[in-house]
Amino acid sequence: MRKLAAGNWKMNGVAANLAEVAAIRAAHPAPGVDILLCPPATLLSRMSDKAGAAIFTGGQDCHAAASGAHTGDISAAMLADAGASHVILGHSERRADHGETDAQVCDKTQAALAAGLTAVVCVGETEAQRDIGETLDVVGQQLAGSIPDTATSATLVVAYEPVWAIGTGRVPTLDQIAEVHDFIRAELTARFGDDAAEIRLLYGGSVKPGNAAEIFATPNVDGALVGGASLKATDFSGIITALENARR
Ligand code: PEP
Repeated sequence: MRKLAAGNWKMNGVAANLAEVAAIRAAHPAPGVDILLCPPATLLSRMSDKAGAAIFTGGQDCHAAASGAHTGDISAAMLADAGASHVILGHSERRADHGETDAQVCDKTQAALAAGLTAVVCVGETEAQRDIGETLDVVGQQLAGSIPDTATSATLVVAYEPVWAIGTGRVPTLDQIAEVHDFIRAELTARFGDDAAEIRLLYGGSVKPGNAAEIFATPNVDGALVGGASLKATDFSGIITALENARR
């Protein structure tokens, strides 16, 4: 399995920030892991032009429909047309800000697969859910509800992102990460059989160059989904290098 360092720029970035892509590319001309950057939709086409073969680009959401009267939305085919190979779906900020349900995330994932995109489906508990011991129940329900039966290891990446760790500087213990990643692998194996061993499981939530190596040494962690630290090439490059070293 080739590991994956994925960056989520969220609602950050204008044309000037594309210099970061050139810097990442220069620092990793032949990366030993897959690199994915998901900029705002406004930058996707221009980033894809600059990314070269070594860096994949992706959207941060798509609509479940192929086209139609959905003002402000973007279809999976439009993302692909702009150069995307991936799309993040069900990010906790989408679930919170836009009330996205598991069923909607599943519909969007199906649309992404139909357009030839790889879906990066996000799951993760809130702090309140963890505090009352519901983490695995919540993650299990999100997995079951958000991923269509048609997904395969070639078209699906799962990102475990505890909501309380996103953008907070707080990170679960390595045992907590391992527990959830082991659980996700087991749930996917029960559903998809042997192919589940090849589905990449990313950890997301305050991954930085300084903590990446220990997180990547955790079983069943096949990479990271990185928010803040993906905005600067120097930070993201450190995470990419940590993942490359973890591979050996
Ligand atoms: C994210 O939003 O997917 C994320 C993990 O953000 P951060 O790395 O900033 O916590």
